[in-house]
Amino acid sequence: MYKPTIGLEIHIQLMTETKIFCGCSTEFARVPNTNICPVCIGLPGALPVLNEKVVEYGVKLGIALKASINRFSSFYRKNYFYPDLPKGYQITQYAIPIAKGGYLEIGPAHQNRAGSQKKKIRIEKAHIEEDSGKSIHMGDITESEFSLIDFNRSGIPLLEIVTLPDIETPDEAYDFLILLRSIVRYIGVSMGDMEKGAMRCDVNISVSKDETMGTKVEIKNLNSFRSVKRALEYEIERQIGALKKGERIVQETRHFDEKEDTTKPMRTKEELNDYRYFPEPDLPPLVISDEFIENIKNTIPELPNTKEERYIKEFEISSDYARTIAYHPKLAEYFENIVKYVGIKMAKDVANFIMVDLSAYLNETKKEIDKIDFTKEKFKELLDLIDNKTISRNIAKEVINESLRTGKTPSEIVSKKGCTQITDEDGIKKLVIEVLNENETQVKQYLSGETKVIGFLVGQTMKKSKGKANPELVNRILYNELENLRK
Ligand SMILES: [Zn+2]
Repeated sequence: MYKPTIGLEIHIQLMTETKIFCGCSTEFARVPNTNICPVCIGLPGALPVLNEKVVEYGVKLGIALKASINRFSSFYRKNYFYPDLPKGYQITQYAIPIAKGGYLEIGPAHQNRAGSQKKKIRIEKAHIEEDSGKSIHMGDITESEFSLIDFNRSGIPLLEIVTLPDIETPDEAYDFLILLRSIVRYIGVSMGDMEKGAMRCDVNISVSKDETMGTKVEIKNLNSFRSVKRALEYEIERQIGALKKGERIVQETRHFDEKEDTTKPMRTKEELNDYRYFPEPDLPPLVISDEFIENIKNTIPELPNTKEERYIKEFEISSDYARTIAYHPKLAEYFENIVKYVGIKMAKDVANFIMVDLSAYLNETKKEIDKIDFTKEKFKELLDLIDNKTISRNIAKEVINESLRTGKTPSEIVSKKGCTQITDEDGIKKLVIEVLNENETQVKQYLSGETKVIGFLVGQTMKKSKGKANPELVNRILYNELENLRK
C-alpha cells in the first residue's frame, strides 16, 4: 500500500484597510504603483510601523484555529533578491510566530467520504508577514523581453498557516481548505477567495510504501480549490507510478498546469535556502496582553463546522445541505433568520427551498442571498399555502420563482394566477367522471382486477386539472367512483 502524506502552506491575505507597515490603502487598484509610499517600496530611511489591525486579525484567526497565541513574538528579515522585493528582504515572523499549534476538524459530511469519522488536521504555526510586489512578465522572458513591476501589493498583510503532514488524501486537503475559507469569512479577517489571490496555497506531497518517509515534492501555482485537489490526484498517481517502476522521486518544486491537469518541474529561480534571517532592528518585539486576547475571543461567532453539526442535529437536514448552508455566512444567516420566524419544524422544508429553488435563482442571476427580496414573511406565506393545501409543492416552486422575479408576495401570485390547488370535491368529481367516460378500456381493465391502471387515470385527471387538483383527493374520489361501478 502506498501512503500519501500531504502538508499545506496557506497564505491568507488579511482584510485590513491599510498595509502592514505603512498607511497605504490595501484596496485593489487598477492603476499599478498608485498605493505606494517610501515604506512599502523600500526607500532608504523609511521606517515600518506595525498595523494593530493585523495583530488583531492574526490573533483572531489563531483563536479560531484553537492555536495558542504567543504573548511575545518578533519580526525577522528574510533576505533574498528579487525585483519585486525592493528592500532586498521580506519582513516576517521566524523564530517565534504569533500563533502555534491548533487544529481543524474536518469531515465527516463530505460526499466522497460518507460514513467516515471526523479527522483532526493539526497546525504547526501561523505567522504574520508582508506580501511582495508583483512582477508582470511581458513577452517571453527568455527572449530578453521585459518585466513590469507593480508595488501595490507590496506590504499587504498576510498570515501564513503551515499544517503538520496529517492530510492523507486530496479530498481531505480540499475539505480543510473550504473549512478554512469559511472560517476566515465568518470571523471577517479575509475574503478567502483563492481565485482572487486572497488565499494562496502551496502543497507538499510525498508517497511512501513503508514506514520511511517518501521524498517531498512541492507544488505551486494552485489557483483554486479544484486545482489543489486535481494537482494532488495527479501527483500521487505520478509518484506511485514512478515508485512501482523502481524509479527515484526527485525532491523538487513542480507547478500545476491547469490546462493539462498535470504537474511539471518548475524552472526554479535560485533555490537559495539560506535566507540569512536576522532580527528586524526597526520593529520592537510584539507583546500581546491577555486582555487583548480575551477581548478578541468574545468577538468570535459560532464557526461553520459547529453550525453544520447543529443543523444536522437540531434541524435534521441532510449533511450536504447542512454543510453548504453552514459554510456560507450569508446563506446561514438567511436560513437561521427564516427558521426562527417559521419554526424549527419547518427547517427541513426551508433548507430544501433554499438549496433547490433559491440557489438556482442565485446562480442564474449571479446575485448574493442578502440582495434578494424573498423575506421571512414571504417564506412563511409560501409554507402556509402549502400547509393548508392551497397549492402543491410543484406550484410552490413556480410561486417562489415568480416572487423572486417580480417581488410580489406568494398570496398575490396565487390569487392572480388562479393556481390555487383545487380542493373542492365536486369540482374534482366532475373531472374524474369525464376521465372515466373517456377511458373505457382502462376502466374495464380495472374492473377485471388490473387495479394498477388507477395510476394512469389519476394522471389523466391531474392533466385535466392542469396540475392543480389535490392528488390525494383525486386518488380517493377515483377509487370511490371505480368501486361504485362494480355495484
Ligand atoms: Zn506604503
